[in-house]
Amino acid sequence: MAKKILVTGGTGYIGSHTVVELQASGYDVVVVDNLSNSSIDVLDNIEKISGIKPQFENFDLADSAKTSDFFARNAGIEAIIHFAAYKAVGESVGVPLNYYRNNLVSLMNLLDCQRKFNVPNIVFSSSCTVYGQPEVLPVTEATPRKDAESPYGNTKRVSEDILNDSIAAYPEIKGIALRYFNPIGAHPTALIGELPLGVPQNLVPFITQTAAGLRDELKVFGNDYDTIDGSAVRDYINVVDLAKAHVIAIERLLEGKNKKNYEIFNLGTGTGLSVLEVVTGFERATGVKLNYKIVDRRAGDVEKIWADTTFANEELGWTAEKGLDETLLSAWNWEKKVRGIK
Ligand code: NAD
Repeated sequence: MAKKILVTGGTGYIGSHTVVELQASGYDVVVVDNLSNSSIDVLDNIEKISGIKPQFENFDLADSAKTSDFFARNAGIEAIIHFAAYKAVGESVGVPLNYYRNNLVSLMNLLDCQRKFNVPNIVFSSSCTVYGQPEVLPVTEATPRKDAESPYGNTKRVSEDILNDSIAAYPEIKGIALRYFNPIGAHPTALIGELPLGVPQNLVPFITQTAAGLRDELKVFGNDYDTIDGSAVRDYINVVDLAKAHVIAIERLLEGKNKKNYEIFNLGTGTGLSVLEVVTGFERATGVKLNYKIVDRRAGDVEKIWADTTFANEELGWTAEKGLDETLLSAWNWEKKVRGIK
């Protein structure tokens, strides 16, 4: 019988791509999402890709009674992939309690239920934000974490601590934290992708919305950083590559291939690209010219960061495969689909 996996936040950006990859690998996926940052239509689009509409429940994972009731009704879940969280860095500065409550309480509720209902495995969405601006690049998993720059970033840091301490105390639970670098792009079918509410905070949705005419111009924050061309450098990872790493992490836990009860992996490409390199790459891949303007640096942005992916490459046998042009084209095809552009 297919192994049952709970994907929290499974109608969101990274979650939906991961549901598709899990289904392709034969898992029986159950999605929980309160649709606070996603749409119910995503389930139909998942079905169009995979032929399978995942079982779905809409509730808030920060509600412990509802979370417990869900597990009581859904026996046999073998692992959780926990994507559900608020993720807007800027917003988190204004409403920190919403972020701490949502992101930390939902994780603690899940860990409680893992113990109560014998669900041994959890994969957690962490972020390279825990490294801040590292002294040495690229960053390995052993690079020291820095104080978070925002309440959002701090929820990732504290969530990692909650996982670490809980797994140390309760040996019946095993977990993997995946530190994502900058996920971009969309599924090659253009049926699922990233749909930010309001003005995008991330580069690629800002680029595609500018290309689609929703924004007058793309703002490039800073051209005086100590980088190849003065613009900030990040490690942009294709969302489908990222999704596939989750399937491998789940297999590792289910098959007992993990070396420690709590493991951490960086997920990136291992290559840093500047904002201006991504802008040029988008123009090259799509043939669409971008109207962009250099403006002041943005508060809270780090200068440059990219991953050392050796540990994920060697231990998980996973490597990011998709190139920048293919990835940017997928993001553009998704934006065009959403906006009805031919
Ligand atoms: P997303 O907002 O698209 O998906 C998160 C989903 O969780 C949404 O569908 C939302 O409705 C749901 N959700 C939020 N709180 C919930 C709750 N209390 N109960 C039930 N559902 C809830 O975000 P994403 O980009 O897919 O990110 C997924 C995870 O990866 C998040 O934990 C995020 O912090 C982390 N992450 C994202 C990035 C990125 O750049 N996208 C980078 C690093 C880490």
